[in-house]
Amino acid sequence: MENLRANQQAKILVVDDIPVNIQLLQTHLVGAGYQTVVAHNGEEALEQVKKSSPDLVLLDVMMPKLDGFETCRILKSDQKTRYIPVIMVTALNEIEDKIKGIEAGADDFITKPFNKLELLARVKSLLRIKTLHDALQEKVRLLEQAKERLRELAVTDGLTGLNNYRYFKEYLLQEVRRAERHQSRVSLIMIDIDYFKNYNDTHGHLAGDEVLRHIARLMQDNIRNIDFAARYGGEEFAIVLSETPLEAARVVAEKLRILVEQQPFPRQEMQPNGNITVSMGVASFPQDGKSVEKLIESADQRLYRAKAEGRNRVVDEG
Ligand code: GH3
Ligand code: MG
Ligand code: MG
Repeated sequence: MENLRANQQAKILVVDDIPVNIQLLQTHLVGAGYQTVVAHNGEEALEQVKKSSPDLVLLDVMMPKLDGFETCRILKSDQKTRYIPVIMVTALNEIEDKIKGIEAGADDFITKPFNKLELLARVKSLLRIKTLHDALQEKVRLLEQAKERLRELAVTDGLTGLNNYRYFKEYLLQEVRRAERHQSRVSLIMIDIDYFKNYNDTHGHLAGDEVLRHIARLMQDNIRNIDFAARYGGEEFAIVLSETPLEAARVVAEKLRILVEQQPFPRQEMQPNGNITVSMGVASFPQDGKSVEKLIESADQRLYRAKAEGRNRVVDEG
């Protein structure tokens, strides 16, 4: 739905089956600075509303086939059009027509033959409400957008753009529960950069941050869409692989290890092993741990062993 702004010409849809009535209304409205679109029956009115998103509808009651009441009812029952004000134009000052109009959801009435000033006053008053409503809608939209962004920020690591530790814990718990229910498997890879303190100390923290970002990207770009990569801590990462057995997770880990090993990071020659590398521990639910804590512990112990056994390697047992 288009929004009506104060500095913009309001668009009014005039609906009547008698052309001369349309002309008269149009003359008054255009004279008062409004833009008009027309429809000659109920069906056409519904189409025109979709097509041109008017800010207000002047709706004749008596029309063949789809009459004004029915047209109004349809407009007011659709989420997309219900906030467009409708003024019903009734032929006589019939109380029953007004009651039917109110029941159909009309916002105001004008009786034929109408007084031009009264017509314009009613139009202006309803447009004022429409403007306020549109402004409110826009605020609600911006608020929703901000909330969505906040939600995103709450689960994202600022430096790398990966999922953060908090989300990782939540996600892993969900996946373990799911695997329990379906008696399937979920694997966890814990990753730690080798001799990273040395890189920071030699080249500075900012250069270290670049490496962290680069490795995060390497991981994100080389796992499946359904896999979940997170920054677990300072220079540690974790990957959750749903419905993946240990052997398959090991293959993923090994692939990532080689990618990091082969990546020519700036000035990595000054590392103790002449290269930026990572060590990894891989563990699977349920065989290596029947709870999130046990699973993490197991992957962590294997990571520790990978370090002890010389780094730049994947350990998936013991
Ligand atoms: P190891 O091979 O045993 O893992 O050695 P290491 O030096 O990588 O391990 P250690 O735990 O001693 O050091 C981790 C270093 O990671 C310490 C810190 O300087 C660095 N680090 C942690 N978080 C960040 C970060 O956000 N940015 C940068 N640049 N460095 C970080
Ligand atoms: Mg560490
Ligand atoms: Mg390290």
